[in-house]
Amino acid sequence: MAQAKKAVSKTSKKQVSRSAPRAIPKTFQNYIGGKWIPSESGEMFENINPANTGDVIGRFPLSTSEDINAAVNAAQEAFDRWRKTPAPKRAELLFRLGEILIRNKDQYTADMTREMGKVLKEAGGDVQEAIDCTYYTAGEGRRLHGYTAPAEMRDKFAMCVRQPVGLCGLITPWNFPMAIPSWKLIPALVCGNTVVIKPAEDTPLSSYNLVKACEEAGIPPGVVNLVTGFGETVGAALTNHPALRLISFTGSTDTGRIVASACAERNAICSLEMGGKNAIIIMDDADIDLAIEGAIWGAFGTSGQRCTASSRLVVHKKVYRQFVSKMVEHTKALRVGNGADPRVDVGPVINADAVDKVIGYIDIGRNEDGATLSCGGKRLTRGDYANGFFIEPTVFSDATPDMRISQEEIFGPVTTIIPANSIEDAIQIANGVRYGLSAAIYTQNVNRAFQAMNELYTGIFYVNASTIGAEVHLPFGGTKATGNGHREAGTQVLDIFSEWKSVYVDFSGKLQRAQIDQLESAQ
Ligand code: ADP
Repeated sequence: MAQAKKAVSKTSKKQVSRSAPRAIPKTFQNYIGGKWIPSESGEMFENINPANTGDVIGRFPLSTSEDINAAVNAAQEAFDRWRKTPAPKRAELLFRLGEILIRNKDQYTADMTREMGKVLKEAGGDVQEAIDCTYYTAGEGRRLHGYTAPAEMRDKFAMCVRQPVGLCGLITPWNFPMAIPSWKLIPALVCGNTVVIKPAEDTPLSSYNLVKACEEAGIPPGVVNLVTGFGETVGAALTNHPALRLISFTGSTDTGRIVASACAERNAICSLEMGGKNAIIIMDDADIDLAIEGAIWGAFGTSGQRCTASSRLVVHKKVYRQFVSKMVEHTKALRVGNGADPRVDVGPVINADAVDKVIGYIDIGRNEDGATLSCGGKRLTRGDYANGFFIEPTVFSDATPDMRISQEEIFGPVTTIIPANSIEDAIQIANGVRYGLSAAIYTQNVNRAFQAMNELYTGIFYVNASTIGAEVHLPFGGTKATGNGHREAGTQVLDIFSEWKSVYVDFSGKLQRAQIDQLESAQ
């Protein structure tokens, strides 16, 4: 299903590109067992700039399950040696990787804007997040703490230690093309696992850059493998491969469910990071201008294509009209265009499917839901916009909490303003969706801020800041349909990529039976 959609969108992009003169695009390869090799299929797909579909960034292997098998075999061969490499030594290679990422940051940033569309500043932030993640997590090479605990019996020692999970499949999305792969890759490696990465078909170049840097850092062959291609073929082959002990997935809730079911079938560990429908609550005592800045940034940063995007603005009725009018004024002032132009605020959406989906939701908001379209609402197709996937930043107001635009993840530059009568009402509205990733409140009242912190059932919460802007040393993830209980980033990510081993050492020289034998002094 997803593959057919992608194939169609790639084909339609290719048709656009045929009419324009173009240079021969660079050809990229998979990275398997320390070698850059083509897919056994011999076929390729094109990576196209969403701001200008005539710009073909490169041709990447359209891989098959055979390529996945080869990559998994390579990961298997490398595993024993890598897991036995002392963690501080593994981490030394990761620190070297961090240096390479810093050195190449500008190039990676430009590549990312070109393949994904987000504005340069944000692409730079994405690369920086990979750098931060690398340095922070590499530090775990000298920690990876377990703990000791007292034993019940005399002359017995108890502790628990972390051990690697084994071979890991990493399936990543296109909206954070380097940050998200790094969130998975770096902790997997520091814990002693070997990996196969399957990046999103819309943004393979940023993962290529990351893996190329791993090679340069001296990470041994087979420890990191990269296989590009479509989700329903290589993504599914990875998910179903019996040798992979863990699949770490970030993407849509629908695909996450498929991945989770496949993993359940074969008892593989599965960590899922999926959708969001994040709300900012704006109370009547809020600094409205600050709240507007946060709402604009949260709703339209990355063209709304973040799982933490501020797609609902729940506004106290006393400041509602004032807020709506300022929100519309600021939204209209946003400059839409090619993210490579530093004057641009909002880049394109990722592909033709995304345009259809977002415009479809705008139609639903206008017609089926009957909300007020306060600004935006159209695809931009003229002049510089003609060859890209540009949509006007869009604000709906006078929405009710149960409308589809208030409930469903749109993943585009669209936000919905919902009036609320009180803090309790606002909290109820904010919690009233199937997702639970991020939430925020703007208020000057500390009691309200803590009340909201306490009662909003999300994995991330902000006070007087937007719903976006997570930092790598705190856990990232959500409740309800957003995930399946895991957290990435922070030290919590180590619990995904390592398993606990409890160790008991009995040095009494006799049989001691826990829960059964009584200690003499206790008798
Ligand atoms: P989107 O629709 O935004 O592209 P997806 O959840 O489909 O989000 O994609 C996230 C990642 O999951 C991508 O790398 C994609 O190739 C992969 N993927 C898509 N379908 C499957 C599948 N059936 N099995 C495994 N991975 C998949």
